[in-house]
Amino acid sequence: MNKTKIDWTDCTWNPTTGCTKISAGCANCYAELMAKRCKLMGLKKYRNGFDLTLHPDMLDKKLSYREPKMIFVNSMSDMFHKEIPLEFIDEVFTYMRRAPQHIFQVLTKRGDRLEELSPYLFWHDNIWMGLTVENEQALSRIDNLRTTPAIVRFVSIEPLLGPLPALNFEGINWVIVGGESGPKARPMDLDWVRPIRDKCIEMNIPFFFKQKGGFRKQEGYNILDGQVWHQFPPNHIK
Ligand code: SF4
Repeated sequence: MNKTKIDWTDCTWNPTTGCTKISAGCANCYAELMAKRCKLMGLKKYRNGFDLTLHPDMLDKKLSYREPKMIFVNSMSDMFHKEIPLEFIDEVFTYMRRAPQHIFQVLTKRGDRLEELSPYLFWHDNIWMGLTVENEQALSRIDNLRTTPAIVRFVSIEPLLGPLPALNFEGINWVIVGGESGPKARPMDLDWVRPIRDKCIEMNIPFFFKQKGGFRKQEGYNILDGQVWHQFPPNHIK
C-alpha cells in the first residue's frame, strides 16, 4: 500500500497493474506514464510496464495499516478490465471484506462489465464503488453504476472535458470533479463545474472539487468560488 497526494483518499493499493485506453479521458493516462517510469527504474511489480498484470501476492500479504484508512483500489489499473477474471475480482472483494476497518474505494471506467459482474460479487459495507466519466459520451456508465448494491456509489468526473447538462445523479452518493493535470492537460472551464456542484447541493449529495488542473498545481488549485469543497459521504473515515 502506498501513501498518495490524492485528497479524497489516504493511500492506494494495486492488486493489478496496467490497463488499455477506452475513451477520451484516457488520452493522457497518469497510470500509464507512471508504470512506464517504474519499469525503467527496474521495479519488479512493473516488469510488464503498462500491460495488464495480476498480482496475487498482494492478496497474501496483510494490509500495512491497522488503523482505519480510505484506500483507493487500483489507481494504476482498472478492476473491471476484461482481462481480469471474475475469480480474481472475487478474491479482491473477499480480501476487502476481511479488512472491515478500512474503506475501499474501487473506481472503474468499465461500467458495462461492472454491471455484468456485480451480481456475482459479495458487496460489503466497506466497499465503495466509483465510476469515472469525462464527457457526455461516457454518461451512460452512471446507469451501470446504479445497478450495483454498493453502500456508496460515487462518480468521479475527472478529467472533466466539457459541459454535462444531461447528468443524472439519482442513486449517487458522492461526486468528485477535477480538471486534467500534467504537461498535456486539456483545459477545464469552471462554468462546466458549477452546474454539477449546484445539482449536488440541490440533491444533498456530497461534492468534492479536487483541482482546476493544468501543467502545475497553482495556489488555489482546489478553490471554487472562494471555497474548498471537500465533502464526503457520512460514513467516511477522513
Ligand atoms: S481506464 Fe484509467 S487506468 Fe485505464 S487507460 Fe484509462 S485512465 Fe488509464
